[in-house]
Amino acid sequence: MTKLTVRGVQEGIRKREFSAEELHKKFLGLIGEENPKLNAYLSVFENQESGITNQGKLSGIALAVKDNICIKDTITTAGSKILKNHKAVYDATVISKLRSAGAIFLGKTNLDEFAMGASTENSAFGVTKNPHDHSRVPGGSSGGSAAAVAAGLAVAALGSDTGGSIRQPAAFCGVVGLKPTYGRVSRYGLISMASSLDQIGPLTKNVYDSALLLNFLAGKDSMDSTTANERVPDFTENLDKTIKGLKIAMPKEYFAVPAGPPTGRAGRRGEGLDSEVNNKVEQAISKLESLGAHVDQVSLPHADYALATYYLVVPSEVSSNLARYDGIRYGLRKGGENLLDTYLKSRSEGFGEEVRRRIILGTYALSSGYYDAYYLRAQKVRTLIRQDFEKVFEKFDIIVGPTTPTPAFKIGEKEDPLSMYLSDIYTVSVNLAGLPAISVPCGKVGDLPVGLQIIGKKFDEETVLRTAFQYYGS
Ligand code: GLN
Repeated sequence: MTKLTVRGVQEGIRKREFSAEELHKKFLGLIGEENPKLNAYLSVFENQESGITNQGKLSGIALAVKDNICIKDTITTAGSKILKNHKAVYDATVISKLRSAGAIFLGKTNLDEFAMGASTENSAFGVTKNPHDHSRVPGGSSGGSAAAVAAGLAVAALGSDTGGSIRQPAAFCGVVGLKPTYGRVSRYGLISMASSLDQIGPLTKNVYDSALLLNFLAGKDSMDSTTANERVPDFTENLDKTIKGLKIAMPKEYFAVPAGPPTGRAGRRGEGLDSEVNNKVEQAISKLESLGAHVDQVSLPHADYALATYYLVVPSEVSSNLARYDGIRYGLRKGGENLLDTYLKSRSEGFGEEVRRRIILGTYALSSGYYDAYYLRAQKVRTLIRQDFEKVFEKFDIIVGPTTPTPAFKIGEKEDPLSMYLSDIYTVSVNLAGLPAISVPCGKVGDLPVGLQIIGKKFDEETVLRTAFQYYGS
């Protein structure tokens, strides 16, 4: 029962093979057994019987929710000591939408503090283990959600993606992770990291479930003025249509390296790109070709600048967004001799190292003497990166490549922040450009899953999902 997909649960409930209550109980039992080993959940909601319904399109769909998404009256930590005891005072829009369709929330999942990281090692509440190999990370920042789905501790999960935090853990844990177009899904009730990039999206066992959940998540929200007034199609409707004739672009920068012998069909292998990951991704692309798609090489000339741009834009927004955690308005307070002292003590005690690093970097990049040289410059390069994609999408429908340069790495392996930042080299530019993208499993290196990233035009999740569905088969 707990291995079922969203579609499987819907069928089981309709045929009365089991009830939503029974399924919920099963999951709670399994979480009780398995979670101590994995640390995927930070909190689990028991005694919800009164809220469980067998009516509704999502009845019985037991979801794990990343702990930076607010569920009223429950602890929402964002993985930070500063919010350790913080109770959300309202539901995020995505939560109220899912709840009114009958979904059940099993609990809140672990994440890197305020979603800053790529391994969950930055969580104030301990690392989550990768279900495929407990000595390795599940990816991040939505590592708890990805691990919960991969281990069968939820039917599906919600994550958030600012620079890869849904797709990268999906790749590391062998599940499907979708980052919708910026503005597709309401951010109301998502604890802000970098507001111009953050998006909520589903982590699921297959592509169908991803499309189905997006149906419920998407849409204009009066509580989030950055949501778009775009038509919301039924994303499941065209999944089984052929991809014959689809034009797929393979950016040479996602495979290429300036020096060294040519290794794959795109020319040369990307710096830091694991050769076996490269092979799996190329095999996946060949499969897309055999399904009738036309694949061609393209260039995204500013790809090399994506990481540097991201790590100026994000810390800048972070430094502003996290100013509200001052020890007065939310969470942890360390009383000082005066107000400033209270701010300083609360923030230095409450925030972890990575969060403090980004606040300092962002404050610096935004300071009057350096604004033009750093923040403004980064915004200009951000435009160039977006234009690179727009140009490719004049001629192509889809862009494909690896989700990550390597499979899941060992816990403790990446000690310096720069090497951690590099795990998002293929995902951050998608957020800078506001595009939709999905990661689907495309084989394994040893025991470790590999992800294929499929990137689409703005608001064209339909083609992204259809391509992924045709590749993955479910
Ligand atoms: N790993 C990236 C970072 O640390 C992405 C995080 C995210 O998408 N939330 O910024």
